[in-house]
Amino acid sequence: MPRFECGICGAVFSNGDVLAAHIRSAHGAGSAPSYECEICGQRFNDEASLVSHMSGAHPR
Ligand SMILES: [Zn+2]
Ligand SMILES: [Zn+2]
Repeated sequence: MPRFECGICGAVFSNGDVLAAHIRSAHGAGSAPSYECEICGQRFNDEASLVSHMSGAHPR
């Protein structure tokens, strides 16, 4: 029986769909690329959100 293991936390699931749902809900990682703030590590789904975060949270 195949095992599907989460690469992030090591939890094991009996099928890929459950694993994918786990990754989305538990780790917030979907198929969309994520943009990560270099300063505080916060992640965003799109570049525009990251840019507005940078100007709001880390103004120079
Ligand atoms: Zn996990
Ligand atoms: Zn930040």
